[in-house]
Amino acid sequence: MPEPDPLRDISGREDERLLVHYTDVAGYMRQVEVPLSNLDRDYVASFDGSSVYGFTPIENSDLLLKHVPETLVSVPWRSGLWRTIAAVYSPRGERSPLDPRFAAERAENALSSMGYRVKAGAEIEFFIFDKVGAEVLNPTRGLGYAVESREQPGREDGIFSQIKKSYHMPEPSDSLLEYRLRLVEALKKFQVDVAVSHHEVAVSQVEVSVGSRGSLARLADDIITVKWVSRVLARMDGRVATFMPKPIYGDNGSGMHLHLSLWSPSGENLFAGDGEEHLSETALHFIAGILEHARSLSAILSPTTNSYRRLVAGYEAPVYVAWGWRNRSAMIRIPATAGNRRAVRIEVRSPDPTANPYLALAALFMAGLDGIKKKLQPPEPYEGNLYKISPEELRERGIKTLPRNLDEALDELESDNEYLRPAFTRELLESYLEVKRREAEDTRLYPHPIEVYKYFNL
Ligand code: GLU
Ligand code: MG
Ligand code: MG
Repeated sequence: MPEPDPLRDISGREDERLLVHYTDVAGYMRQVEVPLSNLDRDYVASFDGSSVYGFTPIENSDLLLKHVPETLVSVPWRSGLWRTIAAVYSPRGERSPLDPRFAAERAENALSSMGYRVKAGAEIEFFIFDKVGAEVLNPTRGLGYAVESREQPGREDGIFSQIKKSYHMPEPSDSLLEYRLRLVEALKKFQVDVAVSHHEVAVSQVEVSVGSRGSLARLADDIITVKWVSRVLARMDGRVATFMPKPIYGDNGSGMHLHLSLWSPSGENLFAGDGEEHLSETALHFIAGILEHARSLSAILSPTTNSYRRLVAGYEAPVYVAWGWRNRSAMIRIPATAGNRRAVRIEVRSPDPTANPYLALAALFMAGLDGIKKKLQPPEPYEGNLYKISPEELRERGIKTLPRNLDEALDELESDNEYLRPAFTRELLESYLEVKRREAEDTRLYPHPIEVYKYFNL
């Protein structure tokens, strides 16, 4: 029986429009608006693939968009406006091998053909800034912060100690409660259930966590929806939301921790077992797979040049390829479950919100699956503060560092990507590498404000 298509019920309506959203290879959500009065039955819209990151070459650039029926909702801030997420097709009517959403669907198929169902969730962090434009985007702003923090003797005693206290702050210290409540409400209209929202560690930093949809592509849909709606609502207040992983020097960055587990078709959590902290063998192999491919995964989970300014010691973001029980300095930690077997899962802390969520979820599950297939065993969990680990101990334990920059991560992805094959088409991988190489190069070639500060008078 074909799936019911809610678009049929509204198509033909006069003066109403549909926002069609898809995501390019770099992870930018793109939008085209079409009238419901004159809607194509099969393909709701077409677009020029050569004008977005990573799609077709210019000589064959027409691509088609087919809506995903279960994503259709009405847009809460404007009547007569609807929204759907679309899958990308070639003019011949085949699924485009470059569509990131396709990678998430293929990952899910690879898992389900081995008898696994996925469950995943995301904690999305971001900043709200007061002004749009110059004040935020002016690069000397970064320099200003650099100077300020240098002049703080012992950062812990200066203004930065107050900054750290913003975590879970209520009003009146928190001025974003009203914004978060409106955000959660709006997201509900988009069928996105926000499990928890709160003020994060840095001043004006927000976190919202979204629960599992039982499908990787649908969770990634939720993540792009959260980013879009957060931005739209901030803009309505004359403010701006940014998902840049490290917008402010010397303060916490924004991560996108991903929580993952595998389940049986009958609804049993396959990560729960008799091991320490109720972890199963399957969970241990899965962890080992992610650690094995951690350096190449980095190119997808921490995919911007700015991502690597976040992955530094001291700000609750990981620096090393390691795992621990409650350890917030480790790349993977195991959240406390108070003995609830359904809650057993792993938390991967290196991803940040600039990651293309379709690709990030697909890649992580493929790395974990590789660990299961090869029955890899993880090293001993590390319990200490990894920010303080000595070079000797790192060597003794054989703990590797995450890549220090995007170029290094891309080198790794270029040499280690077999494990991604069930989800990533060859075309997608090549396109991703090309887009990201160019991006890395742009930043590498650009004189940085801190260089002006350090070298201008040298
Ligand atoms: N903001 C931190 C990061 O960059 C994470 C804080 C937390 O543990 O929630 O990943
Ligand atoms: Mg957080
Ligand atoms: Mg977390």
